[in-house]
Amino acid sequence: MAQTVLITGGSRGIGAACVRTFAENGWNTAFTYSKSREAADRLAGETGALALLADQQDTAAVELAVAEGKARFGTIDAVVCNAGIAEQKLFQNITDADWMRMLDVNLMGTVRTIRAVLPEMLHNHKGSIVTVSSMWGECGASCESHYSASKAAIIGLSKSLAQELGPSNIRVNCIAPGVIDTDMNAMHSADTMQELADQTPLGRVGAAAEVADSILYLCSDKSSFITGQVLGVTGGF
Ligand code: NAD
Repeated sequence: MAQTVLITGGSRGIGAACVRTFAENGWNTAFTYSKSREAADRLAGETGALALLADQQDTAAVELAVAEGKARFGTIDAVVCNAGIAEQKLFQNITDADWMRMLDVNLMGTVRTIRAVLPEMLHNHKGSIVTVSSMWGECGASCESHYSASKAAIIGLSKSLAQELGPSNIRVNCIAPGVIDTDMNAMHSADTMQELADQTPLGRVGAAAEVADSILYLCSDKSSFITGQVLGVTGGF
């Protein structure tokens, strides 16, 4: 029987690549989006996935999206906490409001999503949770201290939950992408992107589909004895 996945922030970038990859591999696929309804509807039409409007800063909206996914497909076997934001600012220019927004979207959005799917996974005594951090969450990035801190927190959250939920047969792993060719990196100039590619041992930036393949692996039963891990998808950066 097909398994069901819920992917947050699925209308573009790595999330959209996950929607395509999971759908192509026979998963029942639901995804949330917060802004571009047109892009979400188009992706849903192309893949057969279920598009659900839910801003992950809104607890009730996240809970409703999970309930709708479950109502459509019967259960939720895996969740990919992908939605996130980034911003480049000098540390001394990051306001309290900037910090709160970054932590609320990236960290609390992940918390809200996991909290909403957890009762179903506990009931099933089975589940796979994949969070999306960043290599900057492990090594830090200049002018992205609030982003890096939010991504480091996601690693701590994931490792703690892997221990807490292991006895319930729920696996929790974290993906830490390197530099991936998505709209998130539109803030970088072409020169900066080339510099980042040059610093990458494989000599290029990654594609969203390459991250999606690793996420599929961690969600699937192919990784059934793997939990509490951070998998870098960085081209060796
Ligand atoms: P992206 O900007 O293309 O996509 C981000 C997605 O998150 C979008 O669909 C957006 O609508 C959604 N989103 C943002 N705020 C939201 C909110 N409040 N509620 C619901 N959805 C919201 O970026 P991407 O590169 O595809 O990034 C996906 C994830 O991968 C992010 O968590 C990002 O931090 C992480 N990441 C990306 C890179 C990279 O180089 N692109 C590297 C490391 C980690």
